Amino acid sequence: MFDDDAADRPLSPETVAVHAGRADLAALGVHAAPIDLSSTNPLPDILHGGDSYESMANGGHPLPDGGNVYARLWNPTVARFEEGLAELEHAEAAVAFSSGMAATTAAILAHTTAAGKHHIVAVRPLYGGTDHLLDSALLGAQTTFCTEDEVHAHLRPDTGLVVVETPGNPTLDLVDIAAVVAQAGDVPVLVDNTFATPMLQNPLDLGATMSLHSATKYIGGHGDVIAGVIACSEETAQALRRVRAITGALLHPLGAYLLHRGLATLPLRVERQQRSAERVVAWLGEHPGVSEVFYPGIGDTRGLVGTQMRGGGAMLAIRLRDGYAAAEALTGSVRLFTHAVSLGGVDSLVQHPAALTHRPVAAEARPGADIVRLSIGLEDPEDLIADLSRALARVSAAVG
Ligand SMILES: *Cc1c(COP(=O)(O)O)cnc(C)c1O
Repeated sequence: MFDDDAADRPLSPETVAVHAGRADLAALGVHAAPIDLSSTNPLPDILHGGDSYESMANGGHPLPDGGNVYARLWNPTVARFEEGLAELEHAEAAVAFSSGMAATTAAILAHTTAAGKHHIVAVRPLYGGTDHLLDSALLGAQTTFCTEDEVHAHLRPDTGLVVVETPGNPTLDLVDIAAVVAQAGDVPVLVDNTFATPMLQNPLDLGATMSLHSATKYIGGHGDVIAGVIACSEETAQALRRVRAITGALLHPLGAYLLHRGLATLPLRVERQQRSAERVVAWLGEHPGVSEVFYPGIGDTRGLVGTQMRGGGAMLAIRLRDGYAAAEALTGSVRLFTHAVSLGGVDSLVQHPAALTHRPVAAEARPGADIVRLSIGLEDPEDLIADLSRALARVSAAVG
């Protein structure tokens, strides 16, 4: 962010979150980041415009004397958000996309079919959409699904990518990133870091090649932007930008502006939401209608909280003693929690993964019908607990 960083102590993530991606603003004479909506840009002359075009079409940066040419190749508002996210992830670069799934698609294309490889190894459980994309082989690569200990055993000469998600969706399973990276050897590892956010976990520090976020969730944090972003090395970013330039799954600059603005409050939101989640988890653990609580660091999620992850986060799931009927009664009875898919926003959400987010997952890997997932927002946790208490009382009335 500042040239003399190395001379001083490293800046705290809270400080980086406020300042990153804003280095050019003072020279522009502005305090808030401008939103650049130009779809095209005036060319200085044919030669320099053409050279800049070629640089960006190959995944590079615009050339200083050639300009940004066309917004499918480069947009300054998007680039500022990418710079901010990259700093929070301890990465050289980040590449933003129109959705989390577009980001996953670009990562798959760049490392498999576009790289002459046709096989992926993926550790389940994964977000339902990711599982569906891999299982469908829609992008021309076949996926072998396995547990985290079986990654090495399933590698093939044509394996181009290893995919993991931790905490996993929806049961918050944790995968040991460093152990998977060691098994993967030379094969790049993609970690879906959506649930943890850069505040709680930095996969690149553990050897992962890419840290992917559905920025729709915590990064945006307000439920009003669909976006994806991948933090990685500059070399990997070039391969991803090339796919983005060719296929066109761009993040719109208005979305990028909101995401960049949201970064400033990400540390505070995650810290507070996590504290509330811990309170809700403790309360749910005592409730007779709940037979199991899934949250990083409790149950069989082992010792990765405090080492790999700096905290358990603000996502949790519960298994209801009275099964699907109880899930239906609960999702229909809450008032403060909105019954909706998605997660990571300032308001709390509840949803039924088997019927919704994980509907396309193969039956043997689909979560149980008695599981409900909760995303804890910024409300007072005592109000959330009162809401759950009332709704769970309705559940016992409904199922008798
Ligand atoms: C939502 C989600 C995605 C997909 O992101 P979109 O922005 O909806 O395309 C991927 N991974 C995880 C863990 C998610 O929660």
